[in-house]
Amino acid sequence: MTTSTTFLGLGAMGSALAAAALAAGRHTVVWNRSTAPAQALGARGAVVADTATQAVSGDGVIVVCLLDYRSVHEVLDPLAAGLAGRTVINLTTTTPEESRELARWAAEHGVTYLGGAIMAVPEMIGTPGAEILYSGAGVAFEAHRPLLDLWGASGYFGPDPGMASLYDMAMLAGMYTLFAGFLHGAAMVGAAGVSATDFAERQVPFLAAMTGQLAGYAATVDAKDYTGGGQQSLRFTETALAALLRAGTEHGVDLEVLRPVHAIVRRQIAAGFGEHGTARMFESMRSTR
Ligand code: NDP
Repeated sequence: MTTSTTFLGLGAMGSALAAAALAAGRHTVVWNRSTAPAQALGARGAVVADTATQAVSGDGVIVVCLLDYRSVHEVLDPLAAGLAGRTVINLTTTTPEESRELARWAAEHGVTYLGGAIMAVPEMIGTPGAEILYSGAGVAFEAHRPLLDLWGASGYFGPDPGMASLYDMAMLAGMYTLFAGFLHGAAMVGAAGVSATDFAERQVPFLAAMTGQLAGYAATVDAKDYTGGGQQSLRFTETALAALLRAGTEHGVDLEVLRPVHAIVRRQIAAGFGEHGTARMFESMRSTR
């Protein structure tokens, strides 16, 4: 196997991935739509290609890290005829269905496709905290493990090319709603003149402790038994959320983050499950397909 690696897309993330390959002494070919990021890597020893076609003219693995699904097609479509037999590792954020479509496109052109989802910011690439999730061609995951492991911990989620992206999106759903919840709380105490910084000092350890509840919620959801002892009932949670909403109103903050949570709880209670555990909210959210 050749150790040459081609990088298409050198934004903040693509540059970090390419820099890690360079630092490991790999022969690295780089291309970017605008030239400045490629020149910066060229100064560190990368071979700078003038065009994407030139960048993929060798026989090594091709790492794609562009803005979005659309830009991946814009860059790869014109190259398709010459890519048969090659491996593409796409680290561009895409939805699961977009990943599956890209894998189908790759198969039609004789390309081995491994999709990846990066659970890190560029500064973390190459550090122990970085994790990248992969799915699609297992053979590519195994063959390129030395490269993948340069960037962080590498996890493989099976042959469905959409799985890495699905995990990514599910994890980000948790992250963004957590961020929004924190900002809502900051707005509440901010109404009384407390800085967000002071609030974060209290909120961070509290939230960290509360994540200890998640494994219990997960076990309840998996067992589909919302009646077991020790669960906080939906009725109790509704009372708490109603108080949070009243407190928000008292202090003039927007309630848009909290209202849907309250609405889900109320829907479950209206369906007759007030004494069931709060994890039952999952039943309002899960796919019915
Ligand atoms: P940037 O905005 O820094 O870079 C975007 C890259 O895409 C640039 O190289 C840009 O080229 C290129 N590009 C955009 N549109 C086109 C197009 N139509 N044709 C050719 N090239 C195009 O983004 P990042 O590097 O930060 O992110 C890249 C991917 O990595 C994204 O999918 C992102 O979601 C994902 N990711 C990023 C994380 C982060 O923290 N940054 C974290 C996890 C995932 P040009 O320089 O010419 O504009």
